[in-house]
Amino acid sequence: MKAVVDQDTCIGCGACIAECPEVYHWNSEDKSESNGEIPADCADKAAAGRDVCPVDAIDIKA
Ligand code: SF4
Repeated sequence: MKAVVDQDTCIGCGACIAECPEVYHWNSEDKSESNGEIPADCADKAAAGRDVCPVDAIDIKA
């Protein structure tokens, strides 16, 4: 599974990064970016990071 952050939608609130730093990190534009593949043991946390996003910027793809 992979998380994708829509850079046009992200408002840089940091909530997903606080929720799951294993999967989301700050990029040079002060927005969240995915680390790529979601480690198997982080699937629930990655989904929690998506769910906490106030603007629905995160998609998790199989
Ligand atoms: S929670 Fe949403 S708006 Fe906030 S940093 Fe993450 S992707 Fe961006």
